Amino acid sequence: MTSLPEHTALTQFPVQDDCLQIGGMPLTQLVERVGTTPFYAYDRQKISERIALLRRHLPREIRLHYAVKANPMPALVQHVAQLTDGMDVASLGELQVALDTVAAPDSISFAGPGKKPHELRCAIASGAIINLESRHEMELAAQQGESLGITPKVAVRVNPDFELKSSGMKMGGGAKPFGVDAEAVPEMLQRLKSLSLDFYGFHIFAGSQSLNTAAICEAHRETVQLAARLACDAPSPIRLLNIGGGLGVPYFPGERAVDLVAIGENLHTIAEQSRQQLPGASIALELGRYLVAEAGIYVCRVLERKVSRGQMFLITDGGMHHHLAASGNLGQVIRKNYPVVIGNKVQGREWEIASVVGPLCTPLDILADQLPMAKAEAGDLVVVLQSGAYGLTASPTAFLSHPAPVEILI
Ligand SMILES: *Cc1c(COP(=O)(O)O)cnc(C)c1O
Repeated sequence: MTSLPEHTALTQFPVQDDCLQIGGMPLTQLVERVGTTPFYAYDRQKISERIALLRRHLPREIRLHYAVKANPMPALVQHVAQLTDGMDVASLGELQVALDTVAAPDSISFAGPGKKPHELRCAIASGAIINLESRHEMELAAQQGESLGITPKVAVRVNPDFELKSSGMKMGGGAKPFGVDAEAVPEMLQRLKSLSLDFYGFHIFAGSQSLNTAAICEAHRETVQLAARLACDAPSPIRLLNIGGGLGVPYFPGERAVDLVAIGENLHTIAEQSRQQLPGASIALELGRYLVAEAGIYVCRVLERKVSRGQMFLITDGGMHHHLAASGNLGQVIRKNYPVVIGNKVQGREWEIASVVGPLCTPLDILADQLPMAKAEAGDLVVVLQSGAYGLTASPTAFLSHPAPVEILI
């Protein structure tokens, strides 16, 4: 083999003089700009391009929301807010980040089980829409609204009677802590009528990280059908139907991107039907990963080359405490390698099979396991691609008490 296998360069970033270019700058210069390793960098142009691509394929009347959980870095959320129609948050912390942006408060929806009275109170005072996850939460929201003298804006999160097939993470269908079982929604809506609540509509999210275009389209169709059925019992016409997120991105060899043309065409048909079945309702897609994952990288530096019984280990200053997903999520699943390259010598003069590990004293601290890559020396830069979503804030930064990495938006 004269050059590296293709999957090791699963990157949207250009390569010039064998160096990755991030935000229009060579990685080596970016490292100087940041002044330290390890760090996460998010490329704002890539995020803008991704959102523009979606806009080209989605029907105009579909609203595009951002699920802040995927990456809550305030500067990034600010950027995304300017290009999208709303935000979905799942904690008070995320709500505050979203409220700091240009997003109108009633374009922000607040999901997540176990909302406490004071969290509901802040959300009501802010004017955000609360996605009610249970009957109990509905009663709490009504109480808080009454004591504030503000009518809470609410939607009912529905646990659908179907699931998103072949998704990485099921968020609905079967027994779930999220939302209200579809069959219990009519009774809840009966009660809702007698409370002082401003009802907006439904939130139905079936599953996350799906690369199966047909399954996504089917879930979108079933979601709108379910909403149309439930709308018959609603106290007022549906104004908002949030059909969730869940479009996946490829991480591993052999994975392919979703077919946006097919998803867009399906949503055109759905939008058409919904104009008849749910007149006046706007449909929102709330995407997390798909908007930001491929725009982000994690960068760390090789500290040492070490051979153990014939295998090469590159010991770096970064690791699983910053990037749990790339390490394999605590060894629960069969571990697959994220796309990892040596960013300052993408092809290099020679290549080798090496494992990239961090400084944590645990065998779980792996960023790449026996992956072909350019032969790296101490000082070279290891880049984990596809790292813009569920990266830093989804990692156990306190584990082993090493410092946290820097994050930048470029
Ligand atoms: C996590 C989450 C999302 C985003 O899911 P992605 O797979 O990143 O698109 C959307 N909505 C809710 C309610 C979520 O919890």
